[in-house]
Amino acid sequence: MIRVSEVILSDEEIEAVNTVLKSNHLVQGSVAEELESAVASYCKTAHALAFNSGTAALHTALFAAGIIAGDEVITTPFSFVATANTILMQGAIPVFADIDENYFHITAESIEQKITPQTKAVLIVDLYGQAVDYDAIRKICDKHNLVLIADSCQALGAEYHGRKVGSIADITVFSLYATKNIMSGEGGLLTTNNDEYAQRSKLFRSHGQDAQYSYQFLGYNYRLTDVLAAIAVKQLEKIEEKTLQRNSNADYLTKKLSRLKGIQTPQVRPNTRHAFHQYTIKITKDCSKTRDTIQKTLGENGVETRVYYPTLLSESPHLHTQDRCPIAEIVKDQVLSLPVHPHLSTNDLDAIVKTFEAIL
Ligand SMILES: *Cc1c(COP(=O)(O)O)cnc(C)c1O
Repeated sequence: MIRVSEVILSDEEIEAVNTVLKSNHLVQGSVAEELESAVASYCKTAHALAFNSGTAALHTALFAAGIIAGDEVITTPFSFVATANTILMQGAIPVFADIDENYFHITAESIEQKITPQTKAVLIVDLYGQAVDYDAIRKICDKHNLVLIADSCQALGAEYHGRKVGSIADITVFSLYATKNIMSGEGGLLTTNNDEYAQRSKLFRSHGQDAQYSYQFLGYNYRLTDVLAAIAVKQLEKIEEKTLQRNSNADYLTKKLSRLKGIQTPQVRPNTRHAFHQYTIKITKDCSKTRDTIQKTLGENGVETRVYYPTLLSESPHLHTQDRCPIAEIVKDQVLSLPVHPHLSTNDLDAIVKTFEAIL
């Protein structure tokens, strides 16, 4: 089976973990700090903080930005559930803006339509590893005095107009979950250039504690262990190489698959670098087969694919919203993510293409 993602640890990562285990210092300490400074220097930000999940980092970002009960946060319906759940964790209200049909991101226009006096922040998602149109969205945020938060859980390594994702929004969050481009099994990161947001985030991560037995506000235990940080430190050293490999795999697939009728290959925004966390095609209505038939047949021929995401967050009962997102409703039935990870061989890529050609 050619898998959508592969977790492959090299000897370097295993050795780094062993070193931590033998040091008898397992909790957040010098290795997590090493990870934080490597991320800050990679993304070119003043601050980077490590967390025990992307979800924890996202919850922290909303807290740090001052989001409280009753505030509205505009976000996308087409994402992993953590994007909206973390808004609920702060007692705030997720308001869903529609996406565009080529990049699958919420747009400046769709955001602006949803702004009310209660709106405090915009939470964008760099879906599939591609940057949103940050300049256009920043303009809207500045005009309406909104904090711009980025759920870039899938987009470490992506670039927008020559800048790394992580350094563009007011606060950015990444995930180090096992299937992500760079991972530690479970883990997360937060980057910001704002000293106050960084300070609030640091305290929130550890019970709101600013000195021993002194607590500023409600906080949680969102710390990353040094055991897991050690994996991420080694992985981060290989991020450029891995991102280039993902791009080269994507280019190969696009060259062959874009010839097929009814298949729309991923659109890359001008002046950006896609991190290709997912290589997501759209099966349009002029295709001779349905998405579900294509997915089933690929599977029977040894090619694993996934649908990210088959349901919209705006449809989930616990998010109790009336928001309609007509484009997202169409797109969710068209998308299909194919393997693009850096461990694919040329044979694997050829097998994916041949299977597609046989089906269509
Ligand atoms: C992976 C992911 C998260 C959550 O990250 P965890 O580390 O699993 O908590 C949040 N948002 C998006 C878009 C993701 O892909």
